[in-house]
Amino acid sequence: MLKKILLVSTSVILVACSSTQLSNIKPAPVAELNQPLNIIMVVADGMGPAFTSAYKFYHDDPATPEMEATWFDRHHIGMSTTYPAHVSGLVTDSAASATALAAGIKSYNGAIGVDVDKNPVRTVLHAAKANGMKTGLAVTSQIVHATPAAYIAHNESRRNYDAIADQYFDLRYQDDFWVDVMLGGGTAYFDREDRNLAQEFTAAGYVYATEYAELAQIQVPSRVLGLFAEKGLPWALDDPQPNRLRTLTEHALTHLQNDEGFFLLVEASQVDWAGHANDIAGAMAEMQDLHDTLLLLEEFQRAHPNTLVIVTADHSTGGLTLAKDGEYRWSPEYLHHIPVSVESMVLTMQEKDMNGTERVQYLEQVLAFDLTIEQEETVVLMDLSQGLRALTAQIKPFIDAKTNTGWTTSGHTAIDVQVYASGPHADKFAGQQDNTDIAKAIFAILDK
Ligand SMILES: [Zn+2]
Repeated sequence: MLKKILLVSTSVILVACSSTQLSNIKPAPVAELNQPLNIIMVVADGMGPAFTSAYKFYHDDPATPEMEATWFDRHHIGMSTTYPAHVSGLVTDSAASATALAAGIKSYNGAIGVDVDKNPVRTVLHAAKANGMKTGLAVTSQIVHATPAAYIAHNESRRNYDAIADQYFDLRYQDDFWVDVMLGGGTAYFDREDRNLAQEFTAAGYVYATEYAELAQIQVPSRVLGLFAEKGLPWALDDPQPNRLRTLTEHALTHLQNDEGFFLLVEASQVDWAGHANDIAGAMAEMQDLHDTLLLLEEFQRAHPNTLVIVTADHSTGGLTLAKDGEYRWSPEYLHHIPVSVESMVLTMQEKDMNGTERVQYLEQVLAFDLTIEQEETVVLMDLSQGLRALTAQIKPFIDAKTNTGWTTSGHTAIDVQVYASGPHADKFAGQQDNTDIAKAIFAILDK
C-alpha cells in the first residue's frame, strides 16, 4: 500500500519539476521518499578497518598511478561500536554482536537472539517476515553459526548447534517457516542420527541441495535449503566454486525477489576465521569474495533501486596491522600469487610425505617467493605428524614476514567498525552509532 502512495508522490514531483514556474521548489530526494522494498544486510564477520584498508591495497592495480576505489570507498557512511552487554566486558563475540545487529539489544557473549536474562528477542528478520516479505540467508559458515542464528533462533548458547538447527524448522510465524532460502554449510546439523531436518524441510516443500551445481537446476522461485559442506564452507582459497559467497547470494536473490519485498542476510563468515588464524592470504581471499558479492549487490540495486544494502562488521579479529616492528612497509603484492590456503599446503606435504628438501621446494613454488635460510631450516625440521594448527602456525609467519603483516591476538578486539549503506534510507546509518542502532534503524523502516 505504502509503495503505491510513494509512486504517486514521486510522479507528482516529476511533474512539478518540469514546470518552470515551480522550478524553485526543491523536491525531496527520491531516496527520502521511497520505502525500500528489499533490505539486504551484509555482515562481514571480523572485518575491522585494517581489513578494508588491506583489501584496498591488495586490490590496487600497480600499473596505474591512482589507488582504485573499492565498493567500500563508494559506500562508507558511518562507524559503529561493537561492545556487548556490560556483563561480558568490552570485547564482543559474534553471538552478542549478531544479537545486537539483529534485535537492537546488548546481550552477553554467546547469546543467540536472547537478552541478558535469556529471554527471546524479536529480530529484524522476524519483523520482515511479519510484514509479508520473503526472508533468506547466504553465508560461508554453517547456517546455524552465531551470526545467522541470532537473526532466526533463540538460545542461551551459540554452541547448541543442533538445538538451533531444530528451531529453524520448529519455530514458526503463523504456521509458516521464518526463512524461505537458506544457503551455506552445515549438513552435520541438518542430517543427524537423532533427527533428519533436511528430510523434514523437503517434506515441507523445500528443495534440498548439497552441491553448488544443483543450484542452477532449481525452479525459480522455490524455497531452498542448500548446505554445501558438513560445517563451514571451504576457505575461499580452496573452494572449487570461485566466489562461493557471490554465487550463493546470486541464487538467493533469484528465489527471494517478489512484489512484497525480501530481507536477505549475507555473511562473509570467514573473514573472521582467517583473522583468528592470523592468516593474511586467507583474509584477503575472503575479502575478495565479499567484494565481488558487493559488486553483485550494486548491480542488483541498479536494476532494483528500491533495495537498501547495509554492510558492517560485528567486530574486528586478530588485531591485524599493516606493517610491524618499526618497518615502514606493507607488501600485499606477494599475496596475489598464493593459490591455496596454508592448511591445504600442509595437507599436500603430509599426503605426499615430503622430505625436508621437497617441502622447501614445494613451499617456494606455491608461495612464489624464496624462503630465508632460517625459514628453510624451520621447514626441514618440521615434524609432519603434528596437528594441522601447529604446522600452519609455522608457515604463516613466512607470509607475514614477506608482506610485513602484524597480528596482536588470535581473538577479537574492541575497536569500532565501519558502516556502509546504499539505497533508500541509507542516510539512517550515517555517523557514529551503537551496533544496536543499526537494528533499530531497520526496525523503524520495517515497522512503518
Ligand atoms: Zn570470531
